[in-house]
Amino acid sequence: MGIDLNPGLAPYAATDAASRGRRHPEPPPAERGEFQRDRDRIVHSTAFRRLEYKTQVFVNHEGDLFRTRLTHSLEVAQLARGIARSLRLNEDLTEAIALAHDLGHTPFGHAGQDALNACMADYGGFEHNLQSLRTVDLLEERYADFDGLNLAFETREGILKHCSPANARTLGELGLRFLEKTQPSLEAQICNLADEIAYNNHDVDDGLRSGLITLEQLEEVPLFAGQIRAAREAHPGLAARRLIHETVRRMINVLALDLMEQSRSHIAQAAPSSPDEVRACPPLVAFSPDMFQKQRALKTFLRENLYQHFRVRRMTAKAKRIISELFQAFLGDPRLLPPQYQEKCLSAGDEFAAARAVSDYIAGMTDRYAMAEHRRLFAVGEI
Ligand code: MG
Repeated sequence: MGIDLNPGLAPYAATDAASRGRRHPEPPPAERGEFQRDRDRIVHSTAFRRLEYKTQVFVNHEGDLFRTRLTHSLEVAQLARGIARSLRLNEDLTEAIALAHDLGHTPFGHAGQDALNACMADYGGFEHNLQSLRTVDLLEERYADFDGLNLAFETREGILKHCSPANARTLGELGLRFLEKTQPSLEAQICNLADEIAYNNHDVDDGLRSGLITLEQLEEVPLFAGQIRAAREAHPGLAARRLIHETVRRMINVLALDLMEQSRSHIAQAAPSSPDEVRACPPLVAFSPDMFQKQRALKTFLRENLYQHFRVRRMTAKAKRIISELFQAFLGDPRLLPPQYQEKCLSAGDEFAAARAVSDYIAGMTDRYAMAEHRRLFAVGEI
């Protein structure tokens, strides 16, 4: 007998034994589970290291303390693992999905994704979720035997959070759930909501630190108002900086506890006896109706006051220009690309494939690399 890799897991948790396997069959790993191996491959990937220099909301050079895609992914992973453990789900799978969930993000956050999607409108579009999958399935070049990281089905299923029906039809077994409207594993469902808990709360924190939103504004948001009141009552006269942290940590805590409690009761009601039965159930990981409303109000507040703030808009306008100008320049003349991408682009059978090669190159860029490439191509003074 080997070591028990999944002690104490619930019957509805993902396990190595129940895994649907890898695209390219491999012998099982020694002394670690299949999902530990996935997690390890993700951490060692190039795309993972690039997350450090990719924007979450604030561009990397705007300040050293703001979240980047890397710290965001780590926060999602620790939250998701905690929730998975409390529900006796597979922590290794949960961690692998969380660490990989944003690998396909473009530089400059959502502005970059929107710009690249617009550039790719005539060539099949650009979806960052699908790009995360493309990264782990095809784009990483590290292993002798296959392209990509050759991750397990369950990890890939969790990475592909959303997908258009047109793209889902090209993905075989993995795309089926978007056509049949079934659910992914509970581990994937946790990562999805842990992502929301993480970004809503860290965007409050980053938003306050940047001065783009204020405490007074946030006190109009029920979830924040309730927790800052509790923090003030427990610690009268607390200095503003600590008060903000006390409030944010309490918000994360109530959201995570609510999610665990509500999900536990959904799971008990549905009583799935295997990961496959989970897939046929309605979504089981969810907030209570009250917390769902509160969390949505916070999201709306952030959208209206932080993501649409004129200073953020200036950054996003500039980012969109950089992305579209790079795209037009490279697709117009692929010989401007570095050799390995040039080869992919020039050997592409049609303009569709050539555009996809350019899109892969741009999507992989960090913020600062995209800015440097833009300067190299367009700054007249630097010829
Ligand atoms: Mg995310």
